[in-house]
Amino acid sequence: MKIKTKLNLGVGLLFLLIIILTLVSAFYIFSIKKDTENILKANYNTLEYSRNMLLSLDEINSDAENAIITFENNLNKQSKNVTEVGEHDATLNLKKSFNLLKVNRTDQKLKNQIRQDIFEIMKLNMFAIKQKSDVAKQTAETANMWIAITGTLCFLIAFNLLVNLPNNIADPIKELTASIKEIANKNYSERVHFMDHNEFGDLAKSFNTMAQKLEEYNSSNLYKLLFEKKRLETLINNMNDPIIGLDNQGLILFVNDEALKIIGMKSEDVLGKTASTLALTNDLMKSLIEKNSANEANIRGQKVLPMKIFADGKESYFEKENINITIQPTGEDQMINIGDVIILRNITPFKELDFAKTNFIATVSHELKTPISSIKLSLQLLENKTTGTINEEQKHLIESIKDDSQRLLKITGELLELSQVETGNIQLNIEKSNPYEIVHYATEAVKMQTDQKQIELLIEADENLPDIKADSEKTAWVLINFLTNAIRYSSENSKITMRLKKDNMQISFAVIDTGKGIDNRYRSKVFDKYFQIPGSQKTGTGLGLAISKEFIEAQGGTIGVESELGLGSTFYFKLLTI
Ligand code: ADP
Repeated sequence: MKIKTKLNLGVGLLFLLIIILTLVSAFYIFSIKKDTENILKANYNTLEYSRNMLLSLDEINSDAENAIITFENNLNKQSKNVTEVGEHDATLNLKKSFNLLKVNRTDQKLKNQIRQDIFEIMKLNMFAIKQKSDVAKQTAETANMWIAITGTLCFLIAFNLLVNLPNNIADPIKELTASIKEIANKNYSERVHFMDHNEFGDLAKSFNTMAQKLEEYNSSNLYKLLFEKKRLETLINNMNDPIIGLDNQGLILFVNDEALKIIGMKSEDVLGKTASTLALTNDLMKSLIEKNSANEANIRGQKVLPMKIFADGKESYFEKENINITIQPTGEDQMINIGDVIILRNITPFKELDFAKTNFIATVSHELKTPISSIKLSLQLLENKTTGTINEEQKHLIESIKDDSQRLLKITGELLELSQVETGNIQLNIEKSNPYEIVHYATEAVKMQTDQKQIELLIEADENLPDIKADSEKTAWVLINFLTNAIRYSSENSKITMRLKKDNMQISFAVIDTGKGIDNRYRSKVFDKYFQIPGSQKTGTGLGLAISKEFIEAQGGTIGVESELGLGSTFYFKLLTI
């Protein structure tokens, strides 16, 4: 049954019950009133007339005329108010006796007869009053009973409605509210179970359909998510580079097969564990979670050394990258850290190629050095007068061959130094060295070049400088390289200053030229291998400064450049004093 019909019926029934109760009560009150009125009208009046007639009869002796009139009036009224059985005869008898008394007013016997008749009428009416009073009492009792029955019935029905109707409406609403809460908590299997054929039944049906659709949608999304997760895991697993994913607490979320191979552990021993716990027993893990070493080195401009790891039965080289993952949650302004991904780029093939290249360069430059040296020796012999006379043109040719062979020797020398640097084979001979001697050696070495370009080489050196901890040969090599560059990039008749001074616990060697200078963009790159500023003379190899950097840093010193385009450059290095 529909809720609306139920409510209509409930309220309608209550309304009907009130009407029935009112009607029953009204009916019985009316009956009792009628009974009472009947007594008053039919019997009480007769008693009143009779009393008046008796009084008039007593007054006949004193005031006969008035008494007779009063008696006759009351008798007439009584004649019209005959209501009881036998009252008619009694009234007729009274009338007869009264007519006789009017003629013979003193007849005592007649008076007695009249009194008898009046009493007879009064007796009949009093008996009727008693009877009618009994009937009224009976009516009142019946009224009581019926009103009680109807009232009880009304009470029972109203009570039943009171108990059942609110629950009938509230219970489904309660169940529905609880189910909506469950759905809000993502429990999409929740259903409501009131299946009556009313509005709540329809509501339940709609709710259950909605919940079912949500459940289907949720599980289809879950399936999609699981599928995507599987796809990503497969992708990560199929990558050749080892990858490890950590959450923001350092808990390992995923690790691919390559990573498992190099750390030598099984996935079940790694997943869900904190990286710091694993680092206690696994040295590789320890170096992997050393977060910022690579980044900090990058910031300082230092070279990040690749990690040498023994994996797959051979030594492999990896470059570690530690990526911090942050996201911006929907509806929030702040980025939050959700973890890190450690990627190890396998650079073994490049490293192998690099080794091959370095070996090749080392071999070639080493093999070239001997024939070039013998060319130089032969040239010296040619210049010697004992070998024979040479004309001016031949002299020029010999000079040019000498320059070229000198350059070739410089290049092969640089390549050889580089191969030593790259293989980590720099043989340093660090000892107590005198900075003045190094400067003197270097300036002497470039004297011919300064003379050729008529460049003035000024030496500004502080006095009484302490000795330094350095490989004097390599330091002089760097200084010669600085001076050669300064001469090469300065115009003729210019000035180059060699400044030597104390800087805290270090001695600073600076070569200051007034040449073309270096553009800001290239300043940090001039120390890179094979780098040459675009548009500069291509006579060099682009290795001099790179090797210089290696030499100075290997001795624990620092190297750098300050320059202004068009005004000149200052190349410097600093080495620790003893
Ligand atoms: P290179 O053998 O080419 O001189 P370097 O490593 O010595 O190689 O120098 C790298 C580059 O730096 C050079 O090609 C040149 O462009 C630039 N450079 C070096 N020194 C100076 C300088 N004093 N003035 C201007 N540019 C310079």
